[in-house]
Amino acid sequence: MDSKNISTLVDDIRDVITKKGGWDSTVSEFFRGAVGDAMDRRFTKEEEERKPTLRMSNIGTPCKRKLWYYLNTELRTTDLPAGTLLKFAYGDLIEGLLLSLAKAAGHTVEGEQDEIVVDGIVGHRDAVIDGVTIDVKSASTPSFKKFEKNELRVDDPFGYIQQLTGYVYGGKDDPLVTDKKGGAFLVMDKTLGHIHLDYYDLTPELSLLPSRLVATKMMSTMKTEPYREWEPVPDGKSGNMKLPSACSYCDYKWNCWPGLRGFAYSNGPTYLTRVAKLPAVPEFKER
Ligand code: SF4
Repeated sequence: MDSKNISTLVDDIRDVITKKGGWDSTVSEFFRGAVGDAMDRRFTKEEEERKPTLRMSNIGTPCKRKLWYYLNTELRTTDLPAGTLLKFAYGDLIEGLLLSLAKAAGHTVEGEQDEIVVDGIVGHRDAVIDGVTIDVKSASTPSFKKFEKNELRVDDPFGYIQQLTGYVYGGKDDPLVTDKKGGAFLVMDKTLGHIHLDYYDLTPELSLLPSRLVATKMMSTMKTEPYREWEPVPDGKSGNMKLPSACSYCDYKWNCWPGLRGFAYSNGPTYLTRVAKLPAVPEFKER
């Protein structure tokens, strides 16, 4: 009996990298196809013109107001800076590499980019490896630590757990998926090259998913924005109030916080909602 299974995946991938075994022309072909298809999706007109809609990848957005803006305002991915869009493409490249390495390591990699539909909400899961639903992530070193510590349930700013839950739920009748109650993130630290498999038993999330989807659909059709998920925090002792980091990275902060002012500190931009003391650094306007 083959001793390889999902619990040996990361060690087996490391063996492919260090012992140079397993990667052959079939895997190279798979890698070329996976990465080429991903770049086609990223850089073709079809992707640019995709209408904003509820998708598996956004239903878990922790701030419902952010999701509402995405669905109901004009800002589109085509408005995002080149650096941000290239970062997304780089993530796709890492995904293709990790799935190829899993294949080279002798694991069963199937169902890549299969369309998953749950209650009319569409998504594309990354893959099923050894019967387990897998979402592949590339992460900064601090984010990678959250996966290593299996901490996503307490700190999940992008709603990854809900996204994975949607894919597992959508695979309940899929014969490729033999693990019906859990799923895992296959993650790479894109700075240090570390790899980790972060598995979650999603039984509680799976039972709540149908009602969550109903609530999210209702929210998406509201005439006005839902409440803000976060509030400003003091910027030191100046009396100024600044956006918390989740809002600083939000593409809709200028819609969400009227009168917002941006200041270019040397360690990065700071967004003030209240200015009691004018910072001695240049101010900048919305993009
Ligand atoms: S700026 Fe903050 S509160 Fe407003 S939509 Fe974005 S994440 Fe939500």
